[in-house]
Amino acid sequence: MKLKPWFAIALAAAVLAAGCSTLPRCGKLAPRQGDEIVAAGQFFHTGTRVVLWLDPGGYDGYRVERRFAPIEKSDWSNSCAEVRTLKTPNRYGLRNAALTPAQIEAVRGGGWDLPLLQNVVDQFVLHFDVCGTSRTCFKVLQDERDLSVHFLLDLDGTIYQTLDLKERAWHATTSNDRSVGVEIANIGAYPADGEKPFAQWYQTNAAGRVFITVPKRFGDGGIRTTNFTARPARNAPVRGTIQGQDLVQYDYTPEQYAALTQLTATLCKVFPKLKCRYPVDADGKLIPYKLPDAALKNYQGVIGHYHIQTNKVDPGPALDWERVIGGARKILDSENSTSFPAHGAEQLLKRRGDTGQRGAPAAVTN
Ligand SMILES: [Zn+2]
Repeated sequence: MKLKPWFAIALAAAVLAAGCSTLPRCGKLAPRQGDEIVAAGQFFHTGTRVVLWLDPGGYDGYRVERRFAPIEKSDWSNSCAEVRTLKTPNRYGLRNAALTPAQIEAVRGGGWDLPLLQNVVDQFVLHFDVCGTSRTCFKVLQDERDLSVHFLLDLDGTIYQTLDLKERAWHATTSNDRSVGVEIANIGAYPADGEKPFAQWYQTNAAGRVFITVPKRFGDGGIRTTNFTARPARNAPVRGTIQGQDLVQYDYTPEQYAALTQLTATLCKVFPKLKCRYPVDADGKLIPYKLPDAALKNYQGVIGHYHIQTNKVDPGPALDWERVIGGARKILDSENSTSFPAHGAEQLLKRRGDTGQRGAPAAVTN
């Protein structure tokens, strides 16, 4: 049947109008909520505050220059001449161990697709940074050590992402190809009968409550939340045995636990091979030492640096694994029937008081 001309014109106009209403208008802002992480170029909500390497005040693991050196000396040629430990301008590489030559050829330029990355990532490695704050941690990794990690988790619970998760960050030797890593701000664990730097970092108020004092040489510490007082979740230092060593460590802050729990749930949802669990023995107890090679090879889940290497004790005896993993499982269970509440992150950021402090952090002066 031949359409009458007026009907054809009306139909075309209707189709055009419908098309216009669904296409975004050019120049329209695609706003972020401030809780997104990036994996293979895709944004995923976490429900907790995330500062990307793209954001003001973020830490950019892609840059070749030193972040905190005087700017006229920060370029790569000056940096490798001045800092002997810096051997290569890129502090990250390609996750190529699990890829075929054809896949390597496809992603060597950086263009990963999400399904390929989901097939590769199956471990989430927890570290403490021994630096005490994320700003100092990034300075050490980027400016002094030729190392990298995907996430830094500061005392106030702010997560900094320094690289897309598609990159092979250099933080956990044999697990770099398959893992995502986070450095949690904490001064670390020390032999129970040895020297400890706790007096510089932890004070006790009149009520007997322990709080963190960032040593003066680190300035304001680069903590994003203004007037934030960090307190260990448990008041007394936590003692425990890791790799057979009797260690003592102050706990992480409640804000760090909350953010780490959200991040863990998010990663376990984004990466199906990454199981929401931690290494346990037959009785369901945390394994406090390096996993045997075969067990490590087969392990898919959240894992400590000390489960990977015998010369590491992080994230230390203080990390409450059940609090993180149990909390993440609860989030995943409640999320299974519904999608992430779009408004949840916004409320959370408001509640935590994002200070809008967007300027670059001051240089560390030590
Ligand atoms: Zn580590």
